[in-house]
Amino acid sequence: MSSIFPARLVLAWLHLLALGVGLGGVWGRARALHDSLRDPVDERAIRRALVADAWWGVAAVVWLVTGLWRLLAATEKSTAYYLTNIAFNAKMLMFVAILGLEVWPMITLMRWRRRTREPQARDAGRIEVISYVECALVIAMVFAAVAMARGFGGRAASSAGEVTDTLCALGDSSDSRSVSTATTGPTGATPASGSPATSAASPTASDADLELVSRELTMPLAGIDPMKLHSNFDALRGAGRRHEALDIMAPRRTPVLSAAPGRVLKLFTSHDGGLMVYAADSSERFILMYAHLDGYAPGLRDGAPLARGQLIGYVGFTGNASPKAPHLHFAIARSGDLRRWSKGTAVDPLPLLQRAHGR
Ligand SMILES: [Zn+2]
Repeated sequence: MSSIFPARLVLAWLHLLALGVGLGGVWGRARALHDSLRDPVDERAIRRALVADAWWGVAAVVWLVTGLWRLLAATEKSTAYYLTNIAFNAKMLMFVAILGLEVWPMITLMRWRRRTREPQARDAGRIEVISYVECALVIAMVFAAVAMARGFGGRAASSAGEVTDTLCALGDSSDSRSVSTATTGPTGATPASGSPATSAASPTASDADLELVSRELTMPLAGIDPMKLHSNFDALRGAGRRHEALDIMAPRRTPVLSAAPGRVLKLFTSHDGGLMVYAADSSERFILMYAHLDGYAPGLRDGAPLARGQLIGYVGFTGNASPKAPHLHFAIARSGDLRRWSKGTAVDPLPLLQRAHGR
């Protein structure tokens, strides 16, 4: 993961940068061509148009190469994910439309450059209009890209692994995090990442800690065999973030049970996590977090004691989760200070649940 981390950052940066440069280029080309429209055409404006056109061309090449790289090398998500995503297909359709529109202006401007054809106002006017249409398409593509990044357009996938990899956006990129938290915690924390946010003050769980917590753990959803689940703890969520939780697929309103005895630390609502429960285990060393809940168990409140297996809420898709894939987002973190209920060092819940199950 660490080896592709810089590459995917650089690719994402170049891809976005090219979009900005390209939009400026094609807009500048349209403006310059508009300025050239007199009889005879204004040569200086034509030269400006050719410079802008060159930037547009460079941006298109960078944008295409980085885009294909990201798609085929699957640096962000699987190739299959992109190809089944409606927003992605809309984006591609608009890209093909731009390519199609660009054929004639490209040939014409190339001739102007080589002086094999004199610039004419009629052609300049046409290319101006085409450039504006291309601008609009680029802007629409940005919208499709943003929709895709926010999890829109994905179809319900057939296997749980596929769904959780694509539709649970918790632990998503930092830009969504910065605007996502509806309210902040008592310490000003913004617990919108996949797991309680890693804090420098939080200790790392020792083997003894893990042994202790696994002894008291049970599956938070009844009837699900943890041995049949796959960890998506390390799944990438953009901007170098990891998922750092376990997604367990289940129908909406499936009862969510407290995975350990302990107490409720905080009932919390966030943009990404939706309705969430933060709870402490009985050793008071771990924070258990349950997200995307459809609702809470009646009477549940901050500070309430919890028994192992007690009903705490229901599976849903609140927050940044797809209605097509209701699931429980379950995280465990080693805490250094339970008053900071959103802070901790994440541990993968699945091996612990499997260890508990094996007893
Ligand atoms: Zn999740």
